[in-house]
Amino acid sequence: MADNPFFAPSTLPYQLPPFAQIREEHYLPAFERGMADQLQEVAAIANNPEPATFANTVEALERSGQILKRTSIVFFSIASSDATDGIRAIETEISPKLTKHRDAIHLDRALYARIKQVTTEDPEEAWLLEKYRVDFVRAGAELSEEEQERLKALNEELSTLSTTFSQNLLTASTASALVTEDRTELDGLAESTLQAIHKDGKYVLPLLNFTNQPALAELTDRETRRKLYELSVGRAPENFELAVRMATLRAERAALLGYPNHAAYTVADQTAKTTEAVEELLAKLVGPTMANARREAEALSEQAGFAIEPWDWSFYAEKVRKARYDFDSSELHPYFELDRVLKDGIFHAATELYGITFADRTDLIGYHPDVRVYEVFDTDGAPLGLFLFDPYARPTKRGGAWMNNLVDQSHLFGELPVVMNNLNVTKPAEGPTLLTFYEVSTAFHEFGHALHGLFSDVRFPRVSGTEVPRDFVEYPSQVNEMWATWPSVLANFARHHETGEPVPDELLEKMRAAEKFNQGFTTLEYLAATLLDWAWHKLAPGEDVKDAEAFEAAALERAGVAFPLVRPRYRTNYFAHIFSDGVGGYSAGYYSYIWSEVLDADSVEWFKENGGLRRENGDHFRSRLLSVGGSKDAMDAFRDFRGRDPRIEPLLERRGLLT
Ligand SMILES: [Zn+2]
Repeated sequence: MADNPFFAPSTLPYQLPPFAQIREEHYLPAFERGMADQLQEVAAIANNPEPATFANTVEALERSGQILKRTSIVFFSIASSDATDGIRAIETEISPKLTKHRDAIHLDRALYARIKQVTTEDPEEAWLLEKYRVDFVRAGAELSEEEQERLKALNEELSTLSTTFSQNLLTASTASALVTEDRTELDGLAESTLQAIHKDGKYVLPLLNFTNQPALAELTDRETRRKLYELSVGRAPENFELAVRMATLRAERAALLGYPNHAAYTVADQTAKTTEAVEELLAKLVGPTMANARREAEALSEQAGFAIEPWDWSFYAEKVRKARYDFDSSELHPYFELDRVLKDGIFHAATELYGITFADRTDLIGYHPDVRVYEVFDTDGAPLGLFLFDPYARPTKRGGAWMNNLVDQSHLFGELPVVMNNLNVTKPAEGPTLLTFYEVSTAFHEFGHALHGLFSDVRFPRVSGTEVPRDFVEYPSQVNEMWATWPSVLANFARHHETGEPVPDELLEKMRAAEKFNQGFTTLEYLAATLLDWAWHKLAPGEDVKDAEAFEAAALERAGVAFPLVRPRYRTNYFAHIFSDGVGGYSAGYYSYIWSEVLDADSVEWFKENGGLRRENGDHFRSRLLSVGGSKDAMDAFRDFRGRDPRIEPLLERRGLLT
């Protein structure tokens, strides 16, 4: 095991993990040694006979656990992107042990006592010190021994449940796929899609992670649509029971820590701070959103000539788009070729705005042949970091799109960032990869997170890049979406993959005109998911839920968003954001997207007021907001950038919710 690649820092450029050398059998020994080493380091800090100082306590903690960090980062990245059976078995074994390990540190009384003794005059140090203190309190450092024992048991069970929940989902995406040998049932799907899903004489259409499967917009056979929809909403039914158990345990944990429910516990260290603040925002959106969705439903039924069912919504929405705006979104696909979107769109916008440049590093490799590696250079040509891009769906990859760090930027270690983006684009059997507009927009979004990581310019890894409150982290990524439709950017990347022709102006105008249509649906399915998450996590301690599906229905009814034609974007049984921690732990936090969007829409206004895609604007956003990461109060950073507090009106306007 001397050759375990996790035991020493990577010698590759930017400390890119040495994927070529990493094998499955390296993980468990590296986790074990990483945890043992860190416990020793922590014991040395806790038992240090010298008086507690920032350097010998907080900074020493920042420096501890390097093997564990290297191992965890690679392992969980692969557990999301390429979870073979071997990886899944390791995840099941290691997750509860990691939870135990974190508890052992957070509940170390001698260590916590030292943290409380540290004082410092330096603002960056003081900010980090306070973060550590709050982390420890929130993890139970001030509880009695007996309460801490109960807390540990709760955390361990929650960790196991969340692993099982996400593994059930991964299995369900293919186990509940729509399978048919009859091609006519799939009429309406593009030829390239049919080729990509045709295997061993069968067509297998896997489920994407949300309710409304994109194929519903294209399938002409109503019965197939119904089948696909029911497979989607009914997948992984065993997860209902897990969800109830998790919500119950979280309520009990919140009570132990002195909060009335898990939602209150969760938002306390977010920018929202109180459940009332979240509810106030959501309440503003419910009425206008429902009115919008009802209006849209009427238009769709009118178009269909009968009262539509939920599986008809997307199909007739496309028809209304055609009839009302003469716009067919599939006409755009030939103009959105993956490579051009990335290089001439996403990278191009970043070069125009921030002056950074990109180079292929085909000499460096990821964990899968589809992963591409790019080196990023700053305005003066100095190295800035590495960007890895893994665009394609595969049976071993979880649904959705996300960014993660492989190396955190920090001055403490003198390390530059290595960040990556994952998408779930279907890989064509042959020929170019053509994207939908939604996929284009998602790619810009994820790159916004990547920029947040790449521009990080902070001293400590704990507050590097995207290490900001969860209800703030979506904000910079949402802002980056604006460049996908910015005229000069769009003109640069949206070219026909065969002829090189730009998108006809007329088609673009139609796209813009059609943009607000179906916003009622989009906002409602999001809002319903948010309120469902909220209901599960406002459960009072000891409250008993007998039937998860009945709870779900009642929660939507009570929140005023029950509408049979528009189900939540995620139902309880596949709400990975809130029930599988690996996905990012959005429990009582799905509201973050709309919360962040208030800041996003207000910032987009700022860019427009100031001339849009200009270096000065990019530099301002970078220096005030992106580069500070989590090294100061998030809302202070926003005010530094915007010059005032956020306003909600731009969001309402964008979502068509101004009455
Ligand atoms: Zn995001």
